[in-house]
Amino acid sequence: MTLLQENNAQNERDLFFMREALKEAEKAFAKKEVPVGAVLVLENRIIARGHNQVEMLQDATAHAEMLCLSSASASLGNWRLAEAILYSTLEPCPMCGGAIFAARVKRVVWGASDLRLGAGGSWIDLFSIKHPMHQVEVCKGVLAEPAGLLLKDFFKKQRKEGKIEQSCYTQRA
Ligand SMILES: [Zn+2]
Repeated sequence: MTLLQENNAQNERDLFFMREALKEAEKAFAKKEVPVGAVLVLENRIIARGHNQVEMLQDATAHAEMLCLSSASASLGNWRLAEAILYSTLEPCPMCGGAIFAARVKRVVWGASDLRLGAGGSWIDLFSIKHPMHQVEVCKGVLAEPAGLLLKDFFKKQRKEGKIEQSCYTQRA
């Protein structure tokens, strides 16, 4: 396979798995949770899925990515997720970014940017700081538009119902 073919294959895989993460985000939407979804992929196979459950669990740490990492570690019986790729519909926050480093995740791919809590450059840039032992590959803006639209729709609905005044999420890649 040439480098170009390899890149194309990677792009196809990224789109495929991000669509799966979007399905998780839609589940969150249906449950009136901020619609963020994630999947964790190992050897081209989804080993864990997660969607935001902050409201249901009344737990600020119940982000899609955290739930996904915990579930993968529990099912593998291993906290090290060194060869895994995490797909999230939203730019990870510093907490999830920290967990990504702690679990030694190889690569992280996300969709929409998060101006409020984004740790991939929107608020702070955790992934560009050189880590002494572990580097995480980053790919941003994959299916950013549908991921952002879902968030936009959600907050529009929330505003209509008088639940919030405004949101700081954007769909910008
Ligand atoms: Zn997070």
